[in-house]
Amino acid sequence: MIQENGKVVDIAIIGAGPGGMASAIEAKLAGIENIVVIDKAPHHNDMIHKFYKKGKRVDKDWMGIKFEFTGNVTFDECSKEEYIQQMDDKLNAAGVLDKFEYNHEIKRVTKGEDGLFEMVFDSDATSEGVETMKARNVILSVGRMGKPNKPKYKFGRELKDVLNFNLSKVQNGEHVMIVGGGDTAGEYAYGLVELEDMEDCVVTLNYRKAEITRMNPINTEMCNKYLDNGKILNKMGVDIESVEPSPAGKIQVNFTDGTTAEYDRAVYALGGTTPKDILVNSGVKTGEWDVPVYSEETFETNVEGLYTIGDVVTDQGSIALAFNHASDAVKHIASKIK
Ligand SMILES: Cc1cc2nc3c(=O)[nH]c(=O)nc-3n(C[C@H](O)[C@H](O)[C@H](O)COP(=O)(O)OP(=O)(O)OC[C@H]3O[C@@H](n4cnc5c(N)ncnc54)[C@H](O)[C@@H]3O)c2cc1C
Repeated sequence: MIQENGKVVDIAIIGAGPGGMASAIEAKLAGIENIVVIDKAPHHNDMIHKFYKKGKRVDKDWMGIKFEFTGNVTFDECSKEEYIQQMDDKLNAAGVLDKFEYNHEIKRVTKGEDGLFEMVFDSDATSEGVETMKARNVILSVGRMGKPNKPKYKFGRELKDVLNFNLSKVQNGEHVMIVGGGDTAGEYAYGLVELEDMEDCVVTLNYRKAEITRMNPINTEMCNKYLDNGKILNKMGVDIESVEPSPAGKIQVNFTDGTTAEYDRAVYALGGTTPKDILVNSGVKTGEWDVPVYSEETFETNVEGLYTIGDVVTDQGSIALAFNHASDAVKHIASKIK
């Protein structure tokens, strides 16, 4: 957990994949020690942990595209497991492992009038008790793999029309169950109650805890108001055991207390932010194919002090490319600091 509430760092690096971890090492080598690296996963290089097969060879010239390392961080071709070990050793040798904060998901960064960036955490996904921290510069290296978090239990393809992760398919008149206890769940629930063209919807809020504990004060107040006056039906304090299609083509939800209920639709808001969401919500302009607008020399975006590197800005990304981007971005930041 981030300990120092209100601390101002020189660089906040979001994402601890190749781009993020190389940024941390480059920063240290450039004499910038006041940094933090934040990742939603419990360890660095999570994409590689998750998506590379056991024993996979990690190629330098990935997909046949030749790369030269232009920064200080390199790797020797090896297996997935050896690559992760190499990275651990490099981070250790650089003395930056204590800068990494895991299990924190960033929703966006916002630049205040004081010129400092504030990080907004995803209350739907991040563990509770996250403190705030400000940054003079931010490097977003969040890859391309972001997607909504899914429930742990299985749900079949036949439910895909009625089990959703946003409100886009909701029709007026439906009974919709919103699942989750964070801000997005709250905004979906009272948003549906208040939307004029959704006035005939019936909204139920399901959260495993009996009380709202993770929403911001406005969302907490709004949800509690509608829970109290019955406009949001309360199905809180109980978890979902499983879901299945009902004979009527709806969704049957089986709760852990043995009760069941049928809804036209269930909308899960369990966190998980796509890279595009983070960029756009942070004020970064995007062009064709959602590629952010940024300088190809420094990787600074249209928001001064906000950099974006790695897979987020490349069609055909690779580890070496992410390392090289990290070097260029940190060089630019270092030139401003000194
Ligand atoms: C199956 C497969 C095999 C590949 N093989 C090779 C290879 O052999 N050689 C090679 O060079 N390249 C390979 N690549 C490509 C390479 O893995 C990527 O180009 C590289 O990982 C990109 O690094 P990155 O730092 O930009 O993003 P990522 O590695 O995706 O890292 C992004 C990090 O950001 C974190 N994150 C995301 N959103 C948030 C958030 N909201 N808040 C906090 N943290 C967040 C993630 O948890 C993750 O740790 C392969 C890719 C795949 C999918």
